[in-house]
Amino acid sequence: ATPTSIMVGTGRAAENGILFKGGEHLERTHELEAIILDKTGTITKGKPEVTEFEGDQETLQLLASAEKGSEHPLAEAIVAYTTEKDIELKDVDDFSAIPGHGIEATISTSHILVGNRKLMHDHQIDIEIAEQQLVDFETDGKTAMLIAINGEYRGIVAVADTIKDTAIDAIKELKELGLEVIMLTGDNERTANSIAKQVGIDQVIAQVLPGEKAEKVKEIQLQGKKVAMVGDGVNDAPALAIADIGIAIGTGTEVAIEAADVTILGGELLLIPQAIKMSKATIKNIR
Ligand code: ADP
Ligand code: MG
Repeated sequence: ATPTSIMVGTGRAAENGILFKGGEHLERTHELEAIILDKTGTITKGKPEVTEFEGDQETLQLLASAEKGSEHPLAEAIVAYTTEKDIELKDVDDFSAIPGHGIEATISTSHILVGNRKLMHDHQIDIEIAEQQLVDFETDGKTAMLIAINGEYRGIVAVADTIKDTAIDAIKELKELGLEVIMLTGDNERTANSIAKQVGIDQVIAQVLPGEKAEKVKEIQLQGKKVAMVGDGVNDAPALAIADIGIAIGTGTEVAIEAADVTILGGELLLIPQAIKMSKATIKNIR
């Protein structure tokens, strides 16, 4: 490998918004056989908005007051929705986030739970009445969260995120380059499948807990494949680090950028197939 052609290659990539941390990563990118993409903030814009809320005013007020304590994008969407509606938020006495499941809060005499089926199940909340609604939201690609107050189901809130404009084209190009494309998310299976279908991905690994993403990357490596991981979140960092090539979304968190081998500016997904092509061209020059 000639150092000069690699230097030229990384320079040219940088001019295009593909920031390799070192020449060795550019050299190895052409070997990739599989690519795993996180859903929220990677395939989607990561700016979810509330599309539906079903429940009474008190439930909405307690829901938003509880979510004020969370930094999750889903929580931000809920708080923004109530700000628009001029609903006054209450002080929270106790709050805890349950990673991959939701949140739990105490406000005066009310105990509030907001999250997915698993959270409701773990607290023995009967959600039978909401099941069909939940399925309908998920089939639409929305993330739906259930609300329980003092042990009883009280409402449901649905949030939708927009797919990035170039996601479909980028995934098509990756497939044309011969890569196996996989989506990885903490979200539920039905929502994940709906988004995957919209962008042309047929392999989905859903309901993965934040701490388990790296293990999923490892599983694919154990099949003997060279794999890239693309992500933006704090919870993607260990997976980005363990992947053969970790690709961070430039608009993502600092932690993800630090853990990755390459960063794509502006989160433009078309830069990923371009990086692979540039790596191939560089290798060809060397040989
Ligand atoms: P993602 O991979 O999409 O970032 P997470 O692992 O952070 O997903 O969360 C998985 C699921 O846990 C969410 O889809 C949601 O159902 C639930 N959840 C997480 N955080 C919250 C929250 N602040 N409020 C309600 N539900 C939440
Ligand atoms: Mg993400």
